[in-house]
Amino acid sequence: MKKLPALILLLTMSFIFFSCKKQMSPQIFRAFGTVCFINLYGDGDESAYTEIKTRLMKLDGKFNLHRERSEISLVNKGAKTGPVEVDEDFAIVLETALKTAEFTDGSFNPALGKLINLWGINSDNPHLPLVKDIEEARAHCDWRKIVFDKEKQTVFFEDKELSLDFGAIAKGYAADEIARICEERKIRYAMIDLGGNVLAFGSKPGRQKWQIGIKNPDEPRGDPIKVLSVDGCSVVTSGIYERFFMQNGRVYHHIIDGTTGFPAESGLKSVTIICNSSLAADALSTAFFVAGKGRAVSLKAEAEKIFNEKIKLVFVEEDSTVVSVD
Ligand code: AMP
Ligand code: MG
Repeated sequence: MKKLPALILLLTMSFIFFSCKKQMSPQIFRAFGTVCFINLYGDGDESAYTEIKTRLMKLDGKFNLHRERSEISLVNKGAKTGPVEVDEDFAIVLETALKTAEFTDGSFNPALGKLINLWGINSDNPHLPLVKDIEEARAHCDWRKIVFDKEKQTVFFEDKELSLDFGAIAKGYAADEIARICEERKIRYAMIDLGGNVLAFGSKPGRQKWQIGIKNPDEPRGDPIKVLSVDGCSVVTSGIYERFFMQNGRVYHHIIDGTTGFPAESGLKSVTIICNSSLAADALSTAFFVAGKGRAVSLKAEAEKIFNEKIKLVFVEEDSTVVSVD
């Protein structure tokens, strides 16, 4: 009879031993042309980090314009001659991109590929193009010429010179996908930072708020210009400091206004969007940066209707004044 408690103890110990997964430290790796940081805290075991990294790399592969055989490159080549079938991830990103383009009247424009390529914005050699080349490229950036058939999940370009660029939206989708994995795995809370595209997932112990800094555009490596205290949500910023180059004593940043073909001059240094969906926040931060504060504030209600959630905005204006709109 004495053997039974000992057996129960042994079984319990081995259950604890085998169910106790080894916690790993936060992971940092490169994807989407930036540094990605993932912290799953106490629930971060090897298999969770591996699943997340694999998913991130897969998405990076799909939306990467530098890879000849990525899905976006294949669409850019194929959709000029006929409808190209796309997968579920691509369809979601494209549909969101098109609806954001529509209601912001092109401030967000997924069809800027030719212009972005001309400026070399995402390359090692960004430069000021000739005005005539900008005008030529600008003529092929009409997002209305992207025909997306939702039923058939196909894309067709009515303009043979048109080309897609998802640089302003893909990271947002990827962050939401990581949050989905965290949810499935019952991870309690996590910090997902894809090069400034931040998603604070879940609630910290004791329902502590997350503290998320908004970078000072004048000193992005210094102290934040504002610290937000938030519950689990996405915080995404588009700013002039992220990717830029200098030529002839001028600074040229990476967010293009399709109506001029030049980096947007909307009186802002950055726009931060705070809402649940990282996909929405990413698309809107770029759109509202181009739109400028006045138009952005007037588009806020419509954005909330379209994305079906409450959206908060923080602007850093040209003179570095910080303006929050709840
Ligand atoms: P973000 O940092 O999210 O604002 O995205 C900027 C990136 O999106 C750039 O590096 C370009 O690849 C692309 N992009 C630039 N301007 C626009 C725009 N007006 N609409 C959509 N994508 C853009
Ligand atoms: Mg964006």
